[in-house]
Amino acid sequence: MGTQHADRDRRAEGFRGSVREFISGLVPPDWQGIGALDDAARAEFRKAARVALAERGWVAPAWPVEYGGAGLSAAELVVLTGELSAAGIPFGSDNDAFGIGMLGNTMLRWSKPELLQRFLPKIVSGEYVFSQGFSEPGAGSDLASLALQAEPDGDRWVLTGQKLWSSGAHLANWMFVLARTNRDAAPHRGLSMLLVPLEQPGIEIRPIRNITGDTDFNEVFFDGAVTDRELVVGEVDRGWPVAMTLLGFERGETALHAPIRFRNELDRLIRLVRERGLDRDPDIRRRVAWCHVQVEQLRCHGLRTAEQLIQGEEPGPRAAAFKLLWSEYHRVVTELALDVLGLDALAPAGRPSPNWYHTDDPGAPNSSASWASVYLNARAGTIYAGSSQVQRGIVGELLLGLPKEPKAAP
Ligand SMILES: Cc1cc2nc3c(=O)[nH]c(=O)nc-3n(C[C@H](O)[C@H](O)[C@H](O)COP(=O)(O)OP(=O)(O)OC[C@H]3O[C@@H](n4cnc5c(N)ncnc54)[C@H](O)[C@@H]3O)c2cc1C
Repeated sequence: MGTQHADRDRRAEGFRGSVREFISGLVPPDWQGIGALDDAARAEFRKAARVALAERGWVAPAWPVEYGGAGLSAAELVVLTGELSAAGIPFGSDNDAFGIGMLGNTMLRWSKPELLQRFLPKIVSGEYVFSQGFSEPGAGSDLASLALQAEPDGDRWVLTGQKLWSSGAHLANWMFVLARTNRDAAPHRGLSMLLVPLEQPGIEIRPIRNITGDTDFNEVFFDGAVTDRELVVGEVDRGWPVAMTLLGFERGETALHAPIRFRNELDRLIRLVRERGLDRDPDIRRRVAWCHVQVEQLRCHGLRTAEQLIQGEEPGPRAAAFKLLWSEYHRVVTELALDVLGLDALAPAGRPSPNWYHTDDPGAPNSSASWASVYLNARAGTIYAGSSQVQRGIVGELLLGLPKEPKAAP
């Protein structure tokens, strides 16, 4: 056993050398992280880095090689994630969270090889760009009450209805859509997860402006839109467990790299505290120390969640605990940043964070606009992928075995 572990560790350390070589070929010697680039250079670098990563299978590193991945072991995955994060190199595009982190990982558990072969390599190459179509105006936390209909018509499905809050749908050419395919069945039983091309006449995508002024998410209207009959993940009318697998990935797939980003962000905040001469302020010191403990806790929890995912287990309720932990932490740390900035937070200056919903990039300037935009985005973290209240319900019932929440009278 000991020799096996030693061999595995040696292989992972050897792999570290190839990752470092890759990084030094990709970035100049004075590289400080993608956050130090201006908007145009950032967009160009992200594109080039994604192509280079995809060529090595590293945008989906744990997937089998035949589907465009690199078939990395758990130890190698930890090395790759750590090295790329430390160097401030993005893992892929924003929509990869949907195509790779959520859909591809879910398909590997639920789809037959023909469908995997048809979709996964094109997701890795960037030809197919996905977004997520779960929420609707009448269905968020209570996802099973969704109303978008998909009716069979010969060899196609015809879709009618609306999706809401669809992040990145304006950048996507496909959407995985949870649709009602059987109106007579109980709410959880008549659903199917369909893969739907977005570039067709029956679909309209309307942007929604969020609290930062950006338009990262959308309303998507389906009016007679179509997709092939065989483009179903899992079985027809049995989409609920497939959707639950996917939500587990949505909550847990950042488990390895999110804690590293939070560490980087907290170090940046500590620099800000020093710059502002607040490092002897007892209240600020107490709050920074609390944040440090949370980030350490996230790192440990993240490793456990990631280990589970790598071993092929369903992410399930543990991923809900991880999601609850990071999203609640991120609200608090960004509130602290605004307190440190004081009145400057009311008139943000400098470049805002270019990222949807999470931390600014490694190497980003310590500007008031960066912190103010991340503060606003951090509010969304406790809502998307399931609100904190819902995560607490999952942790209570499924991890701790507490009694079910009482249901409201019909
Ligand atoms: C930034 C952002 C991006 C998003 N991106 C996407 C996307 O790409 N695709 C997609 O499909 N959806 C997306 N969503 C939607 C997201 O999944 C929903 O907003 C979320 O599930 C909550 O649903 P809701 O907004 O309908 O709120 P509701 O479900 O109406 O909840 C309202 C309030 O009631 C509470 N509540 C509801 N049920 C319970 C319960 N059982 N116990 C305790 N409290 C409860 C909630 O916690 C919340 O505080 C996104 C949302 C945001 C904010």
